[in-house]
Amino acid sequence: MTDTVNLLDFDAAGLVAYCASLGEKSFRARQLQRWIHHGGVSDFDAMTDLAKSLRDKLKTCASIRHPAVLQDHTSADGTRKWLLDVGEGNAVETVYIPEQGRGTLCVSSQAGCAVNCRFCSTGKQGFSRNLGVGEIIGQLWMAEFALRAARGGLAPGERVITNVVMMGMGEPLLNFDAVVPAMRLMLDDHAYGLSRRRVTLSTSGVVPMIDRLAAELPVALAVSLHAPNDALRDELVPLNRKYPLAQLMAACNRYLRVAPRDFITFEYCMLDGINDSDEHARQLLALTRDVPCKFNLIPFNPFPESGLLRSHPERIKQFAQILIDAGVVTTVRRTRGDDIDAACGQLAGEVRDRTRVAERRRRDARTGLASIGVRAV
Ligand code: SAH
Ligand code: SF4
Repeated sequence: MTDTVNLLDFDAAGLVAYCASLGEKSFRARQLQRWIHHGGVSDFDAMTDLAKSLRDKLKTCASIRHPAVLQDHTSADGTRKWLLDVGEGNAVETVYIPEQGRGTLCVSSQAGCAVNCRFCSTGKQGFSRNLGVGEIIGQLWMAEFALRAARGGLAPGERVITNVVMMGMGEPLLNFDAVVPAMRLMLDDHAYGLSRRRVTLSTSGVVPMIDRLAAELPVALAVSLHAPNDALRDELVPLNRKYPLAQLMAACNRYLRVAPRDFITFEYCMLDGINDSDEHARQLLALTRDVPCKFNLIPFNPFPESGLLRSHPERIKQFAQILIDAGVVTTVRRTRGDDIDAACGQLAGEVRDRTRVAERRRRDARTGLASIGVRAV
């Protein structure tokens, strides 16, 4: 199986090229794509409108494989979280969040993350590797059809996953070459057919790649801000030392010229006594004065090694009120799936091979890379 070509690795153009290599016309690629991504079919024998000879050929050289499910938990509030094996002791998470009238899937893009934000357990695990296209779209494929099966099928026109957010583990713009084809499939009418407004990429602020995304596939953009000035952001999001706030704000405005939504969502993790004062809120308003935006305040999800605390609910309310009073739409993210640890990177850390990470950290320290907190950038 594993030495066969994984068809989940191909977007539409890739599948056309693959079919051409088998001597097949491009409409076959479209049929195949629909069986896979519309129908959730992985058994070639069930693809009845493909010629028997093609089905037999595919059976010998191709397969449809998503990362193996290690754990599958459903929270009391309906949030469902899968832990997926991506090999060599690495695991990533996919989280489904049902809400009134929509269902959002939070997808991972890397095993670990090199950006190493102070408050993020994924960052604390270090960077292991980029996920491939099939490992990224495989999360959507696996979740969509598992959820459909749990419902006993779909009513006509009904959808399970209506929105995708690239907000799981990893920095998606540092895995651009796999994330973009995977998002193309999310948007493709012969695959998931989601509108560009319903696919959101969240970034810690990789400025040149924000411009590339604008040029190649402008989806909705969320930017993880977390601090209103460079001194504090340098500490919380080390990538800020490379791409400081003035550059990031300018990139946001360039992005808005082509974005499917007319605002950027700024995410702001609320950390007790660190970034949550009234003065921080006022600085945030000044910083973003010229960028059409919304704020999403995220109560910090604590984990033991962080040494940080979540801001008090009253503080978050007061902080939000300052932003709202200035006329900026501001939401406070509800904590979902608390009983199953459905937060960024929390569960995967428990199954990772910590020895290997410790070894890598020592190696990075020797090469001086860890000291600036950003690797592979
Ligand atoms: N790497 C991307 C996307 C993944 S993280 C990014 O940083 O934007 C998705 C969001 O969760 C980011 O805004 C991130 O800063 C936030 N986050 C990470 N760890 C968190 C924690 N422990 N508590 C609350 N939010 C967290
Ligand atoms: Fe990476 Fe995002 Fe976590 Fe920062 S918050 S370490 S960019 S996954």
